[in-house]
Amino acid sequence: MSMSRGLQNCTPRPAQLLDSDVFRRQGHQVIDFIAEYYSRISDYPVHPYVLPGFLSRRLPEAAPSQPEQPDPLSAALNDVRDLILPGITHWQSPRHFAHFPASSSTIGALGEALAAGINVVPFTWAASPAATELEVVVMDWLGKALHLPKSMLFEGGGGGTLLGTSCEAILCVLVAARDSKLAEVGDGRIGDLVVYCSDQTHFAFHKAARIAGLRKDNCRVIPARREDMYALPPAALQAAMQTDVEAGLIPLLLCSSMGTTPTTAVDPIRELCAVASPHGVWVHVDAAYAGSALICPEFRHLADSVDAVDSLSMNPHKWLLANNDCCALWLKQPSALVAALGTDDDVILKDAAAAAATDDGVPVVDYKDWQISLTRRFRALKVWLVLRCYGTDGLRDAVRAHVRMAAAFEDMVTSDARFEVVATRLFALVCFRLRPPTAATSRCEADDLNKRLHAAVNATREGPYMSSAVVGGAYVLRCAVGSTLTEERHVRDAWKVVQDHATLILAVY
Ligand SMILES: *Cc1c(COP(=O)(O)O)cnc(C)c1O
Repeated sequence: MSMSRGLQNCTPRPAQLLDSDVFRRQGHQVIDFIAEYYSRISDYPVHPYVLPGFLSRRLPEAAPSQPEQPDPLSAALNDVRDLILPGITHWQSPRHFAHFPASSSTIGALGEALAAGINVVPFTWAASPAATELEVVVMDWLGKALHLPKSMLFEGGGGGTLLGTSCEAILCVLVAARDSKLAEVGDGRIGDLVVYCSDQTHFAFHKAARIAGLRKDNCRVIPARREDMYALPPAALQAAMQTDVEAGLIPLLLCSSMGTTPTTAVDPIRELCAVASPHGVWVHVDAAYAGSALICPEFRHLADSVDAVDSLSMNPHKWLLANNDCCALWLKQPSALVAALGTDDDVILKDAAAAAATDDGVPVVDYKDWQISLTRRFRALKVWLVLRCYGTDGLRDAVRAHVRMAAAFEDMVTSDARFEVVATRLFALVCFRLRPPTAATSRCEADDLNKRLHAAVNATREGPYMSSAVVGGAYVLRCAVGSTLTEERHVRDAWKVVQDHATLILAVY
């Protein structure tokens, strides 16, 4: 009795947990907090100086049984400010040049907030008709904005969906291709299916092949050479497929890249399709990063070859101002995806099929059949807001600004004879390294110098944060311009830090 009274006193009634007035007050607190973070983000070192365990040691061992009084949210936000923010890598810092960007905007963040607040689960059309239809509309809007061929849009008989990541998209596509091939050749042949990629392809593809149950030694990794700008050479693909066919194996899928992760190389997609198509091979384009550049007319030619492929995925969360998470996947034949991932034996979810019967010509989509999970986020709302509020011109200008700043960085690298740009810059990533300082410098010593340079640059408190890659066997630094807050001065300052450390390192070489 006294216990239940105690509970009543301290624990809010469920309805209070979503009270409008409380939400308004707490919402202001959180938005103010984020705005303050952005105004001070440059004060933090991009990468924190912390050791493993630094945070867990400072937090209690278990969740509190009672909220902290008088204002639990304020107390928690103080901890975010004092304990968490000093220990994160500040991906939105204007000095974050590592990996690829995690593109952010106020509208992208608020789109996430809006979707979280409405919190629907659009797994079937009927489970949230407007959320599903908005996704259908947004996929065609985005596809047109990126100049994708009509055959990939709902309008042209194809279609698309918003997933969380490219890893998911690539797996879904591979499973669709696998099942349509097995329907032709018989399930028993799964061990004979072969997939193709280059040695620059993202590990997402290898992971997908493993999950899809393909044999580990049936993944052909074709070397991409410096003289081909690290793009997959069609002749080598041709030879590999020929050998496999002669050995009685079945070529299944080629994962080509538009913008590889190490250097943003673009595979010759049309030539690769000409090789792959006669073998009945599904061609996917992984454009996770560079797909966003297709919004610019100057990159539009890259989309020309896409009419020859079966599917394409790209991440608006990487470079199109749509905050985490968001991967857009388009297919010419979504029916193959639905055949592989559809689940129509669940009576509870059957209602959409009935709805479909009442419609004339409008595609009725049950997006649960296009992905791995049932529950899904209302990502279309965020993408729609970003497209509406910035417009395709606004998005184009943002991408262009980054490309321009990267070109400026590339010029600075090129005009310092101690350095070399190791792969032609195509978008907003510059891969560079110190040249071997003398003719006698070994490959190993040169790598060591570049590793030291990289470590010194990243350890500079007010300096830039960059990542590295191994390109053509050599250790290189990657400067990826794409943080929304980055301005030209940040790029110039970053280069100055690189130069100064190079001078120090070479002085003692
Ligand atoms: C980032 C990246 C991926 C992985 O993307 P996720 O959305 O994190 O799964 C795949 N391919 C390429 C080319 C990438 O740059």
